[in-house]
Amino acid sequence: MFRTAIAGSLPKPDWLAETHKLWPQWKAQGDALTQAKVDATLLWVKLQEDAGLEVIGDGEQARQHFVHGFLEQVEGIDFENKVKMGIRNNRYDAMVPQVVAPLRLKGRVHALEAQVTRAHTQKKVKFTLPGPMTIVDTVADRFYGDKVKMAMAFAELLNQEALALQADGVDIVQFDEPAFNVYMEEAADWGVRALERAAQGLTCTTAVHICYGYGIQANIDWKNSLGHEWRQYEKVFPALAKSSIDQVSLECFHSHVPPDLMKLLEGKDVMVGVIDVASDEIETPEQVADTIGMALQFVPKKHLIACTNCGLAPMDRAVAEAKLRALAEGARLAARRYG
Ligand SMILES: [Zn+2]
Repeated sequence: MFRTAIAGSLPKPDWLAETHKLWPQWKAQGDALTQAKVDATLLWVKLQEDAGLEVIGDGEQARQHFVHGFLEQVEGIDFENKVKMGIRNNRYDAMVPQVVAPLRLKGRVHALEAQVTRAHTQKKVKFTLPGPMTIVDTVADRFYGDKVKMAMAFAELLNQEALALQADGVDIVQFDEPAFNVYMEEAADWGVRALERAAQGLTCTTAVHICYGYGIQANIDWKNSLGHEWRQYEKVFPALAKSSIDQVSLECFHSHVPPDLMKLLEGKDVMVGVIDVASDEIETPEQVADTIGMALQFVPKKHLIACTNCGLAPMDRAVAEAKLRALAEGARLAARRYG
């Protein structure tokens, strides 16, 4: 049997927030919003279980965006005065908050949704946090004046929340680092160091998700500019193989990543992306099993986890549900074929 998991995010129901958006507006406020976030989390716990996934997440229903959800609980950040900044090496502009003072956590960030998820499934729970390097690439610095110093400051805060999530009963803490595929040299140098600082002292499983981004037009255009072979992972995988992080996620299906790069992750669990998040076409179980079969040439069976290429947040809800089922069915078919 192959383990199955999703990268992290899932679409928000239309009664919770605007749909098909990366930075959606909430549909409620105050206690009603809190209740709606809990309800949406429960909904996706059930749907992931019904699909037959092995590892269950909160679907990131309680955060507006995978980076800003964390930042909202950080002192030293000015959210009132956002500025326009080119992010991911100017791939697209975003309105980002500014770091204006020493960083400190106001309190717990994700206690509610982590505890709700834990209380409603017997399966392993994975919880995602943004990685330090990706956070640094999604805020404007008006205080630290040094990227690495600021990344380490964020890593300390992430570590506090990660340890608390572990205490909540989370089995896997995953850090999302799409920036690793943009700033490859820096990622291999201080990016992995900051990641290890964020994971320091965790005894649960640790993971990092590195992708080519959500299936939005700016990312599709960027991918089209990367040429026939995407070798970005080649720079950072050796550093990750030497690191303390247990699991590494990568894009595979419908990507131009040379699959033999997976060999660079020897000894790690590899979350192989078998579901495309940039297309509404539903994968067949045969396609999923084929991708798993191909990955088995480079990753031993016990280390292979079938996963989505990235989060499904901006997708249509029905499409996302069908993709979860395809993922689980494909993994079952692969178990029969290669078991
Ligand atoms: Zn991703």
